[in-house]
Amino acid sequence: MSNALTSNTNLASYDYIIAGAGGAGLSLLHYLMESSGLSSKSILVIDKSFQKTNDRTWCFWEKEPGAFENLVHHHWDTISIHAKGFNKELSTTPFTYKMIQGIDFYNAILSKAKLKSNIHFQEAIILDIKVLDLSNTSKGATIEWEGGAATGNYIFSSLLPFQMNQLATAAAYSQSIQRNDSSFKKAPFLWQHFKGRIVQFEKEVFNTSIAKLMDFNVPQQSATAFMYQLPLNEKEALVEYTIFSENVLSIAEYDQVLNTYLANEFPGQRYSIAHEEIGAIPMTQLSLSNFQDPIYAIGALGAAIKASTGYAFQFIQLQCKNIVQQLENGQPIQAQVHNTRHQFYDAVLLYVLFHHKMEGAEIFKRIFAKNKAATVFKFLSNTSNIFEDIQIMRSLPTHIFLPAAIRVLLRRA
Ligand SMILES: Cc1cc2nc3c(=O)[nH]c(=O)nc-3n(C[C@H](O)[C@H](O)[C@H](O)COP(=O)(O)OP(=O)(O)OC[C@H]3O[C@@H](n4cnc5c(N)ncnc54)[C@H](O)[C@@H]3O)c2cc1C
Repeated sequence: MSNALTSNTNLASYDYIIAGAGGAGLSLLHYLMESSGLSSKSILVIDKSFQKTNDRTWCFWEKEPGAFENLVHHHWDTISIHAKGFNKELSTTPFTYKMIQGIDFYNAILSKAKLKSNIHFQEAIILDIKVLDLSNTSKGATIEWEGGAATGNYIFSSLLPFQMNQLATAAAYSQSIQRNDSSFKKAPFLWQHFKGRIVQFEKEVFNTSIAKLMDFNVPQQSATAFMYQLPLNEKEALVEYTIFSENVLSIAEYDQVLNTYLANEFPGQRYSIAHEEIGAIPMTQLSLSNFQDPIYAIGALGAAIKASTGYAFQFIQLQCKNIVQQLENGQPIQAQVHNTRHQFYDAVLLYVLFHHKMEGAEIFKRIFAKNKAATVFKFLSNTSNIFEDIQIMRSLPTHIFLPAAIRVLLRRA
């Protein structure tokens, strides 16, 4: 999507065009609306559908009340980790583990934006985004959708070549890159794929103060798999079967594990399913876009996902805040959110998981066995210092991680 076009003066023109109104597009819109210098800029937001559904729950941790504190649906100050012969509860202090429902986030930002006359919406399937060949004193890009087109001084796109909440499109993408992309052989690509259910029991069965972050006592699928159990009240919880592996499963396979797990955990207890979510999040350091100024990739497309964990929400916030600050200051856009040091750690962990050098269950068990949750959260947020990094590394076997680190360094050389 980078061929140059000549300017078309008949097209409507905007300061900023946001292509894709999901987690990243709407976060960027939020920070633009909040910016005193940019809130009156003309903005076009395009998505194939603004009829949003509760298609995902975002969980993340933070210390202070965040930008979307009023949307937090539930939060926990204790997490637990479980594996064979291992059960540990950890206080998350000074962090809080939080959950926001997708629909609350979409509705809050879209309803505010719809009141503003400088923000325009286009519901359509986007076909192409290209740099405009203007004079060397100005710049721009054009976006085409079914039945129309527009130009923007900047275009921010989060359109992936697959849909993260449609497993079939993720599977098709896997096959295409495994067949065609030689870089795939150099940089590992795993999916964090999952199916979750909000279950409602007839009786009180949950301890609402503890988020079960990882329970590895589930079929590992020859990879890394765990159950995630987030209680919303004594009778209700989000229970999610999550796997890090090269290929997604069939819906029936996730369901079978969920059914067995719930039956074993809560024997004889009856429950109904209030809601379900599925997803496949790319865990990779492969670049998924090749845009050039003034087109920028954001969100999952813009490498905001942490390659070793699949967490993205807080990195998307950082990325969008940074972009708005750079626009305010008239600086070049730098959308990269992961620093080199933590990217290296991600690459090593991903290498170990991808090449099955050590079981993921054992890695995470050791990390949580020997460290405070706060240290692990800092490490996974890319905010740990070198002493904390060493502390985490000392939890892991050198004979596995050192050769992996060398392989990653040699691959980069
Ligand atoms: C089910 C699920 C749960 C997740 N849970 C967490 C979590 O707990 N914590 C965490 O940190 N991360 C989580 N993630 C990962 C990540 O935070 C989200 O995927 C996040 O939504 C990524 O934002 P995005 O804007 O990059 O993509 P999206 O939110 O998917 O937005 C992309 C938008 O582009 C639109 N679009 C796509 N193609 C076109 C086209 N051709 N034309 C027009 N519009 C188009 C889509 O309709 C969509 O609105 C989860 C992901 C999923 C799928």
